[in-house]
Amino acid sequence: MRRKFIAGNWKMHNGPAATKEFFGKFAAELKGSPEVEKAIAEGREEVAFFVPAVSLLTAVGESKDTPLIIGAENCHWEPKGAFTGETSVPMIAEIGATHTLVGHSERRHIFRETDEELNKKMHAALEGGLSAVLCVGETLEEREANKAFEVIRTQFVEGLKGVDAGTVAEKVIIAYEPVWAIGTGKTASAGDAEEVCRYIRRLADESFGSEAAEMLIILYGGSVKPENTKGIMSQPDVDGVLVGGASLKPEVFIEIVRNAL
Ligand code: PGA
Repeated sequence: MRRKFIAGNWKMHNGPAATKEFFGKFAAELKGSPEVEKAIAEGREEVAFFVPAVSLLTAVGESKDTPLIIGAENCHWEPKGAFTGETSVPMIAEIGATHTLVGHSERRHIFRETDEELNKKMHAALEGGLSAVLCVGETLEEREANKAFEVIRTQFVEGLKGVDAGTVAEKVIIAYEPVWAIGTGKTASAGDAEEVCRYIRRLADESFGSEAAEMLIILYGGSVKPENTKGIMSQPDVDGVLVGGASLKPEVFIEIVRNAL
């Protein structure tokens, strides 16, 4: 059985002070949810927070001695150098964060990151000891032109080029986030989410073999909220969710974590 992976993506929200306050409140919520604490302790469910670079140190400190996972929202592919404004994998790892997002649709579309750059980031992250969540997903235009599967295939294949099967199985997570469902309140139906997540598992099988495909953790993201979590999580190829807006309030996010059990 694959473990469940429930992640918050804070985007450009929560500086250090708000981060400290969040984790204080989230710890109290966890205390009130013994079934969640038990699932996490038994390794059935993992809970992760992808936070702004300036808040990583606080998040790692505040979640010390807990099984909560802290990750960066982005990383650069070079370990150091003349890249003003960027954060490298060794810097992220030095802080004590263990994961990073790669290729969130906002990075792809607003910051024009290419599949080639994202592949370099995947290698840098994985070789630098981080687990990496590669985000893929089609725009509304692409979906309406019946190109969703083709777009996802390209993002998957190009993003993971040169990564070996063992690493894919152990250290890579794929997040399927249809761009039209992000921050819009429009969620893909549980069936739509399953259809694409199943397709991604088939792509993993083709590229990395059945064992890696079977182990690969695949998430759905896009307007996930407490009310739609159960339906999405009941799908056989959806192992978790990546949550934006609804991860910013501890009392809302804990409900998603609980409903995902
Ligand atoms: P949303 O964002 O939950 O606010 O739609 C999801 C994401 O961008 O990861």
